Amino acid sequence: MSRFVFSADGHVVEPPDLFLEGLPASMKPLAIHSEKREDYLCTVSGDKVIFRLRLRPGGNSEATSMRGDAAPARKAIGSNNIAGRLKDMEDEGISAEIVFPSLGLWTYALENPDVEQATTEVYNNWNDSFFSGHTDTFVRCGILPVRDLSNTVYELKRIAAKGFTAAMLPSITMKGIPAYNDPAWDPIFHAAGELGVAFVLHTGTGAENVVVERGPGAAVMNYTRQMCDGQNAIMALVAGGVLDRNPKARVAVIESGASWLAALAERMDEVYLAHAVFVRPKLSKMPSEIIRAQVKCSFQYDRACIIARSVTGHEALMWGSDYPHAEGTFPHTPTVLAKLFDGIDISERQKADILGGNAARLFRLNRPEFAAPA
Ligand code: MN
Repeated sequence: MSRFVFSADGHVVEPPDLFLEGLPASMKPLAIHSEKREDYLCTVSGDKVIFRLRLRPGGNSEATSMRGDAAPARKAIGSNNIAGRLKDMEDEGISAEIVFPSLGLWTYALENPDVEQATTEVYNNWNDSFFSGHTDTFVRCGILPVRDLSNTVYELKRIAAKGFTAAMLPSITMKGIPAYNDPAWDPIFHAAGELGVAFVLHTGTGAENVVVERGPGAAVMNYTRQMCDGQNAIMALVAGGVLDRNPKARVAVIESGASWLAALAERMDEVYLAHAVFVRPKLSKMPSEIIRAQVKCSFQYDRACIIARSVTGHEALMWGSDYPHAEGTFPHTPTVLAKLFDGIDISERQKADILGGNAARLFRLNRPEFAAPA
């Protein structure tokens, strides 16, 4: 039997007019879409420019690779179609994946709760039909509205009924919505636990602007700091008690690296005891135990998470490619995977879990060989 490799981070490019076409007429002026403006590709909603990507001569910014290659060996052919995607996956040695949006990543820039709700519904319905017939290969991942938490529960139940096993919440809680240590999240995390839908927090979601630092080192600082969004979210969900009170809920942080999870778990335990006199709410378990039981992280390259797995449990770790993005592992995935465990003393079963088994259990894939953890 060939090795099961699951990518916990992939993206699909939606039809450019998905929201322009799909939203009710009254909401169309606010539909998220991209348009070229001079040297930039701008993602906009109404008058709001959500994101600007500088277009480079001879291709867009995905034409160069973060690893310093002049250009990738070849272009991804499956960003917006299943056949190309399956071909790229076969070449890369990836068996299955969870697929995140592209335009839809900007949903949390919408401030009107009704437009946000309608946008998630349009995206989730499209996602469901796009991947229908391939649900053993692609984990359908919904986007949940959060500007009105009653909409969150409504949409969570609606997509769970379609068989979705994953749903996005913002990595950063925007101004105007409750922070993740707020008990207002309890009904949502309770419902997700009961429905068996895992929450996924993809890096950058909920952020107004990734570019905060300027000047020397700014790019490294801005992109490195993206892991802090995941840290802050998990810290709040653990310390505030939302995960402790809803033990069936599962949360995965995507594309923020994973090595920080061990440090966060150990540090939170230390603080929880050392500053006990100030700690409330009291938790039923230590922070690290809650993290081991309920939190997962995806990573591409940072192997320190594997070395530190005795803290988080190897079950917390899921490898992901970030296909088709330039900063991801495409088209070098086989090389990355071949070196992933170099010099690390780890069993074959634990390797298989990190490469696929942990995701198979989290997203309830039909993979009986991973039914029980190692
Ligand atoms: Mn990604």
